[in-house]
Amino acid sequence: MRDFVETVLSQSERDAIDFALTAGNPWSHESFEDPIKGNLLTAKAKIKDFHSARVSKKCCYCRRSLEDASIESDREHIVPKGKKKSLSYNIFNLSIACKRCNMTYKGEKINHIVNFETIEADLRNSGRYLIPHPNIEVYDDHLLRISLQFGSKQITSYRCITDKGRFLYDFVRLDRLCVNEIDEAQGGEKVSEIAAELFDLPIGGV
Ligand SMILES: [Zn+2]
Repeated sequence: MRDFVETVLSQSERDAIDFALTAGNPWSHESFEDPIKGNLLTAKAKIKDFHSARVSKKCCYCRRSLEDASIESDREHIVPKGKKKSLSYNIFNLSIACKRCNMTYKGEKINHIVNFETIEADLRNSGRYLIPHPNIEVYDDHLLRISLQFGSKQITSYRCITDKGRFLYDFVRLDRLCVNEIDEAQGGEKVSEIAAELFDLPIGGV
């Protein structure tokens, strides 16, 4: 990931970031004049593209597809930039999340970090995070998002595999994204039975 800074960001963009980090609000490109402002904007666009590819264009917390036009996405600071300004442009501290997870549920919270005061020197240690870190851990090892459409009915659910997965589930209130229209439509018939029926069908239909 260090290579990203050295090979993808231009010297002008890196200089603009260094300059911005000396200011009170480094992430706010609007508070700078050109050419700093322009270089920060292009650097941010490159950061977004880089992380978007890393998480397969899915929110790093809820795993919903960010290719869905109705879901807005933004760069996500795992350690909130408002709490650690020096990490505003740290590529390792960044990922991509939907606005719902980023703004509504995570915000400036720091209770997913162990010993927040000393996190900066230990940023790459997975043991310092109570959630699966998007740049250290594999999401699916901790939490599985299951989403299935059966005809016109939809089911979305999460399976917590580890304590970190469980923490993330509660942290960004993934329970509120769960829907089960299939069970409701079938008068309580088990979803697993419907799923089994679905998987018995040949791909492409009969
Ligand atoms: Zn999300």
